[in-house]
Amino acid sequence: MLRTRQQRLLEQRKAKLVPRLPDPLETVRGTLVERYLTCGNANCRCHAKGPRHGPYYYLLTSTGPGKTRTTLVPNDQLVRVRRWIANFKRFKDVSEKITELNTELVRASRMDKGRSKRAGRSGR
Ligand SMILES: [Zn+2]
Repeated sequence: MLRTRQQRLLEQRKAKLVPRLPDPLETVRGTLVERYLTCGNANCRCHAKGPRHGPYYYLLTSTGPGKTRTTLVPNDQLVRVRRWIANFKRFKDVSEKITELNTELVRASRMDKGRSKRAGRSGR
């Protein structure tokens, strides 16, 4: 029910967010980190002054308080994983905006009721 101008405006602002929503199946929650590692060969240059091996990329996903899941990301999956991470961030941002607008809608409906109550009282 769109009774007030404010409620209509809020609904319009919500509708504008729809095209900004990414495909929810193209998302992953986490961060990408770059690591350089030493190998199992004790004679390898990486154990001395030489550069370590890498970069290797890992997806870190928090799975609870103090818990992180670490997943090695193959190089041919990097572009895809970066896109999924960006999509997740956008999904979260848009959800936050929807939350704000829906909260305003609840408040607006309350004010609407308040007004009709006051009107009812003044009519008595
Ligand atoms: Zn090595």
